[in-house]
Amino acid sequence: MNSTKRRGQLIVLSGPSGTGKSTVIAELLQARPDLYFSVSFTTRPPRPGETDGKEYHFVSRETFEDMISKGAFLEYAQYVENYYGTSLQLIEEKRAAGIDVLLEIEVQGAEEVRKKCPDAVLIFVAPPSFEELSRRLRERNTDDEAVIASRLETARKECEEISNYDYLVVNYQVPIAVKEVLSILTASGCRTQYRLIDWKGV
Ligand code: 5GP
Repeated sequence: MNSTKRRGQLIVLSGPSGTGKSTVIAELLQARPDLYFSVSFTTRPPRPGETDGKEYHFVSRETFEDMISKGAFLEYAQYVENYYGTSLQLIEEKRAAGIDVLLEIEVQGAEEVRKKCPDAVLIFVAPPSFEELSRRLRERNTDDEAVIASRLETARKECEEISNYDYLVVNYQVPIAVKEVLSILTASGCRTQYRLIDWKGV
């Protein structure tokens, strides 16, 4: 019997703020409840309706910087004046237990993950257009005009990094985007490095 345990995959999903990533992820997790969604740490204040420990672990700048100095993050980045980071320990525990881990992070963090975990699957979720993105950000009604302008500017820069990703999913319609991400996950789970461990051979 093969005693080696299959290590969980690391799946990274990025895309500009307002692209609909969170909706795609919520539906993805319904379809694949076996996936572990990593809750990030951030110094950004909670938006109305957000709960500590659910969308994010909301911490002070001081706590975040202390965690950086202790090497607590797989990756972290500054985005629109706030820190965001992924707990290294949690990710490692889940992957070692054979559980696939999903990260929703921005492009600098994804680049860091690519360097540290070359087998990670990187998926970029893009809006159909910048006009549509601008409309969605305003409709969300959570940020003031200056923050929206800054998010749009960041979105343009983020889209310049698309070619560093393995897959591009354009979110025209959530159900189609979810189907595409599910197909990517099915394919990536069939990669030989994950399958050979379980295969009995001929
Ligand atoms: P928001 O403030 O809209 O929740 O998130 C802003 C950006 O931070 C999004 O692009 C989101 O994907 C990214 N983000 C969330 N968590 C992390 C993280 O742990 N690391 C990095 N690098 N980015 C993150």
